[in-house]
Amino acid sequence: MHTTALVLFSGGQDSTTCLAQALSRFERVETIGFDYRQRHSVELGARQVVLEQVRTQFPQWAGRLGEDHLLDLAVLGQVSDTSLTRDTAFKMESSGLPNTFVPGRNLLFLTLAAALAYRRGLEVMVTGVCETDFSGYPDCRDDTMKAMQLALSLGMDKRFLIDTPLMWIDKAATWRLAHSLGGDKLVSLIIEHTHTCYLGDRKHRHAWGYGCGTCPACELRARGYAGFLQPAP
Ligand code: ZN
Repeated sequence: MHTTALVLFSGGQDSTTCLAQALSRFERVETIGFDYRQRHSVELGARQVVLEQVRTQFPQWAGRLGEDHLLDLAVLGQVSDTSLTRDTAFKMESSGLPNTFVPGRNLLFLTLAAALAYRRGLEVMVTGVCETDFSGYPDCRDDTMKAMQLALSLGMDKRFLIDTPLMWIDKAATWRLAHSLGGDKLVSLIIEHTHTCYLGDRKHRHAWGYGCGTCPACELRARGYAGFLQPAP
């Protein structure tokens, strides 16, 4: 039985839901985030606010929530040329992937997370990757996660588990999962404080939270929220 976890936490809807789930399951939970010179540092600000809100609004979880680790990954901006790290517009590449895809990003995140988990004695790494959503990032696929789990466990000679609670559910189900874990209070926290919009928009408030409303991340979040408000199938 595992009792400790490290959550890859970006301050977005998905990783906040994963954090809530980890806090309801594990006795000690730490968080890790990465500063890779995202075009918009809004995301990094959201991390701090969400952690603070979780601590104050959920006393049953506050005692389990341990240290937050923010790693400097500026090097990722040096090797990639994508619309998340450079000031270029969104488009689909000829590969069929959106140019928001940062090659190797999740592989690097998981490797560094495992190294930190090793040092901190944390057994499970939790990540909000999902194969169900439109984007089809290859480093979010279940096969990739299973391969990473094996490679990291072998390479560090320590049994790691990579837990992916959102892998097979869509965004509406992610909202429902948040509701089942923390009720309306957690749903409100996610709406108010998590950040998903690719354009870093915190000016426009919608029923589902802040964002430009038109980028792929906003569209997905909005559609999921609309589905969440419908009766469950
Ligand atoms: Zn947006």
